[in-house]
Amino acid sequence: MNKCPYCNTSYNEILQTGFVGCSRCYSEIEMLGQNISQMHLGKTYKGRKAKSGNV
Ligand SMILES: [Zn+2]
Repeated sequence: MNKCPYCNTSYNEILQTGFVGCSRCYSEIEMLGQNISQMHLGKTYKGRKAKSGNV
């Protein structure tokens, strides 16, 4: 299964956003277990400021 039945978030969505829809995603989406851990470990944007607070 590459989609979480609880929050309806697909694997691709999570890849794109870098965020899971809910904590169930980790267990529901098998592929996620491998990739998301690397994603969170590798993707640590700390100094990246998006256009927030600009409006
Ligand atoms: Zn989910």
